Amino acid sequence: MKFCPKCDVHLRRNTSDSGIICPKCGYTEKSSSKTAEIKKDEAKPEIKVLDENDQKESLSTIKIDCEKCGNDEAVWWMLQTRSADEPTTQFYRCTKCNNTWRNYA
Ligand SMILES: [Zn+2]
Ligand SMILES: [Zn+2]
Repeated sequence: MKFCPKCDVHLRRNTSDSGIICPKCGYTEKSSSKTAEIKKDEAKPEIKVLDENDQKESLSTIKIDCEKCGNDEAVWWMLQTRSADEPTTQFYRCTKCNNTWRNYA
């Protein structure tokens, strides 16, 4: 948190130009907006196709043939894509070889 050099008031984020501004005297400063940019990157919405370790236990299995290794069991999960117009996509992952594929329901 930065302070105004003139009146020691907390500087606030200036939403119009991504700098910071003193709410009391109007002093402005260009913020080194690195922090904000990093946060933006982290929040980037990406479709999770594989999340090897986290999700495995909570997923249910289904009897389905894996094209790759011939195994007949895979875990599956549903993902709604960002656009509401698109249908929900069902993903499968082979329990044996971790081959992942999708099925447009
Ligand atoms: Zn000030
Ligand atoms: Zn397989």
